[in-house]
Amino acid sequence: MESAAGAILRSVTTTEGTEQSMGIRHGVVVALDGPSSSGKSTVGAEAARRLRYRFCDTGLLYRAVTWLALERGISPSDLAALVALVPEVQLIADARGRLRRVEASGADVTAEVRGAAVDRAVSDYSKVPELRAALIGRQRAMAGEGGGIIMAGRDIGTVILPDAAVKIYLNASPEVRARRRAAQRRTTDEAQAGQILAELRARDSIDSNRETAPLRTASDAVIIHTDGNGFKETVAAVIRAIRAAEEDTGGR
Ligand code: C5P
Repeated sequence: MESAAGAILRSVTTTEGTEQSMGIRHGVVVALDGPSSSGKSTVGAEAARRLRYRFCDTGLLYRAVTWLALERGISPSDLAALVALVPEVQLIADARGRLRRVEASGADVTAEVRGAAVDRAVSDYSKVPELRAALIGRQRAMAGEGGGIIMAGRDIGTVILPDAAVKIYLNASPEVRARRRAAQRRTTDEAQAGQILAELRARDSIDSNRETAPLRTASDAVIIHTDGNGFKETVAAVIRAIRAAEEDTGGR
């Protein structure tokens, strides 16, 4: 028979949490920014796993709102309807505090939000200032739960968490990022790979040139170029930057 301690451990390690109810509380606040496919979510999630930090990929919030808007035929200019979608999207934490599952109106849309239709539309929705404003509080509340979080996005170090203990900017050339994205999609077709590169450049351009919270490197960010790096090297570089900040701040 399972011991009482075993049952408690099992319930701790298998319980999912919502944005508001995640358990792990140690370490510093980390802002992890960078362009599409720079590796923020895979590298950030792995670094968080190793450090026992929480992880939040804020791109999922924008993707979830975009997915719902496309489903319901709401355009980026329909501000009231767009902002009204925000309470309908929710990130769900896995047992390790990584907010990587997405629900919209109670349905699991984790796979859908990563699809090509959302890829193409998301930057046009996320440049809407009213939508960004409606998501600021959500993101700050997640980080404000006591440190020990890596939050990934475009404007985390510049706008959402300007006081983060460490800001990291992951970068890679468009070609390398497009190659990674093509590999994720198992694309071997050259025309499709070319389209991935073109779409990535288009998204970079909208994200970097929008008026509200454009993609920028925070002046105090540690910049990590990942072109020549393997995944493990990049994770190690991110962990080094976080460890240095933990030492500087005494862990908080
Ligand atoms: O990071 P990911 O590629 O999933 O983000 C999807 C889109 O969401 C980005 O291209 C950007 O337009 C938007 N985004 C944003 N601010 C964030 C995170 C994502 O504008 N903090």
